[in-house]
Amino acid sequence: MGRSHYDLRVGMTIGVLALQGDVREHLRTLAALGVEAVAVRRPSELAAVDALVLPGGESTTMAKLARTFALFEPLQQRIAAGLPVLGTCAGMILLADRVQDGTADQETLGGLDITVRRNAFGRQVDSFEGAIEVVGLVQPVHAVFIRAPWVEQVGAGVEVLARVPQGPAVGRVVAVRQGPLMATSFHPEVGGDARVHALFVDLVREHLSERRQGG
Ligand code: GLN
Repeated sequence: MGRSHYDLRVGMTIGVLALQGDVREHLRTLAALGVEAVAVRRPSELAAVDALVLPGGESTTMAKLARTFALFEPLQQRIAAGLPVLGTCAGMILLADRVQDGTADQETLGGLDITVRRNAFGRQVDSFEGAIEVVGLVQPVHAVFIRAPWVEQVGAGVEVLARVPQGPAVGRVVAVRQGPLMATSFHPEVGGDARVHALFVDLVREHLSERRQGG
């Protein structure tokens, strides 16, 4: 991928938005990769990170809390300025430019040119897990879905990283990437497999080394 050994030593701090949701699991997974991982609750904490994870949880609650904690606009501004972000489940919804089946007043941070359908898999299959192939990983990921969204439509600049391999939702898009933004419908922070986070860390590293070289 054209990375030099020098680039591999670029240090980074990744924040996890810690308003609600499965914050601890993300912090643990990032720490297991040797990355400095910090909880973000304040604008000053957001300003200090090189990249951010938006965790799973409840997208409407997280958006409201982001307003309460004066983080909503700073988050939008940093995303628009090129902050690398990984959104998982509710985090994917928060990153999406468009939401279907949201609440009437549902707000998103946006940045990712996708339409997500909230709670897309339906009540009967509220939660399920399975092996999913992800672009960039040799072995499939054991993906855990909990009242998950799927990606209904992707814009021209969006790369599809994973689709549901079988069953009633076969072919549905469940992981995407657009520039420094990455999102999964499932929860890579659950189950002790850090490879999706490792993909994100690679993305952050590329992004930081490009910036430091003025590229
Ligand atoms: N259904 C939730 C929402 O709309 C997402 C669920 C999750 O993050 N596990 O925000």
